[in-house]
Amino acid sequence: EAGRNTFRFFSEDIRSSVTESLHLISSLRQAVTQEEFVLHYQPVYDLHSGRLLGAEALVRWQNPKLGMVSPGLFITLAEKSGLIVDIGQWVLTEACRQMQAWRQEGATDLFVSVNLSPVQFSRGNVEAVIAQALRETGLDPRQLELEVTESTLIHDTEKFITTLGRIQHSGIRMSIDDFGTGYSNLSYLQRFPVHKLKIDQSFVRRLMQGQKDVAMVSAIIHLAKSLQLTVTAEGVENEATREALTRMGCDQAQGYLFARPMPAKDFEAYWRTRPTL
Ligand code: C2E
Ligand code: CA
Ligand code: CA
Ligand code: CA
Repeated sequence: EAGRNTFRFFSEDIRSSVTESLHLISSLRQAVTQEEFVLHYQPVYDLHSGRLLGAEALVRWQNPKLGMVSPGLFITLAEKSGLIVDIGQWVLTEACRQMQAWRQEGATDLFVSVNLSPVQFSRGNVEAVIAQALRETGLDPRQLELEVTESTLIHDTEKFITTLGRIQHSGIRMSIDDFGTGYSNLSYLQRFPVHKLKIDQSFVRRLMQGQKDVAMVSAIIHLAKSLQLTVTAEGVENEATREALTRMGCDQAQGYLFARPMPAKDFEAYWRTRPTL
């Protein structure tokens, strides 16, 4: 409406961002074959006993030119381009391989949790990939947790429900990540076999600021309890938040207060010290 010139500026902006995305996609495609990904591990604790329970595996992209690219920047692009199927397979296998190596060093009671993208369910044969990762690495399925978001659970088909059922039946535990941010109604909690709810960190972070978030977090904890699910809070950044969560009966926590995600070597040294909160 402001005239052709303005429109041209916009289109150049769009064109350059498209070029940028295409460039990033081709770098990302190379990253898959050149193994530029690494996993960092963030400790998860039992709030009741203070014990270390396991770690969430979080992918990092180390590109020779771009440096360390955070997942917030490339996961969406990887999902749109379908590359997440290959990346996700690598992540799963690497997390299982690493936990099995640690298991052999004595970490027999820790779990590793891996994030799964909805695209891995819709475009990849996720069940076969999981089975292959376990077979290849020999990891006990009871040491593996898989995190899916509510958006994955809108595939409300019989086929999908039986797939999830079979995955859980093998001993793997399923968590719902970023719980409370999805818009789906909660009836899926009765249909899907899940083990754990992870309260989204936006609620946790605002816990000390407003009454509404206290109500929200406390409602999620009660919901989890009444469905006999484990409940984890992520994004715990200060002592007051930890105390409030413990008081409300939250089971588990992770966050910068305890530890940031760290390279495998560091997490290995860390769990060996048998840390407690
Ligand atoms: P997420 O699954 O919700 O992971 C938690 C994110 O919160 C991580 O960011 C973690 O570093 C960060 N975090 C943990 N504790 C705190 C805290 O106390 N304060 C703050 N401010 N942040 C905290 P990260 O590693 O950048 O990952 C971002 C998102 O990227 C993840 O969110 C997840 O959705 C996605 N992601 C990461 N790795 C993978 C992967 O292997 N596959 C897939 N599909 N997605 C992944
Ligand atoms: Ca997660
Ligand atoms: Ca989360
Ligand atoms: Ca998230």
